[in-house]
Amino acid sequence: MNGRKARALNRSRRERNEQWLAEARAVPAVLMEAHETFELWQRGRFTFALPVILDDLPGEMKDALAVYRGAALDGRCPGCRVASRVSRKGLMTTHHESGCVAHPDRLVELGERLGVDIERTS
Ligand SMILES: [Zn+2]
Repeated sequence: MNGRKARALNRSRRERNEQWLAEARAVPAVLMEAHETFELWQRGRFTFALPVILDDLPGEMKDALAVYRGAALDGRCPGCRVASRVSRKGLMTTHHESGCVAHPDRLVELGERLGVDIERTS
């Protein structure tokens, strides 16, 4: 593939991803399945596996997980300038700034400090 074709493909992929993000943001998130420790939510064409905020978690962990869940579904974070991206394969990922309480590394650290097992999936 020459450079021009590659740039055109990248551009059309980027436009497709922006369209998919806009479509997803235009509809509400819908809970599809609830399991003991995680839930599956659907928003537009994207599916999100999100941790359940269990009743027996420390308050600090509940707050951090609420931020994590909200940012994944809404693309907005009260703690940072979160970025939602759609990969080449069409998967949405959410990227928090490194100092944000909802960054996966910070959630793991918080879990270690509070003695809560955090299973990292991303
Ligand atoms: Zn954040």
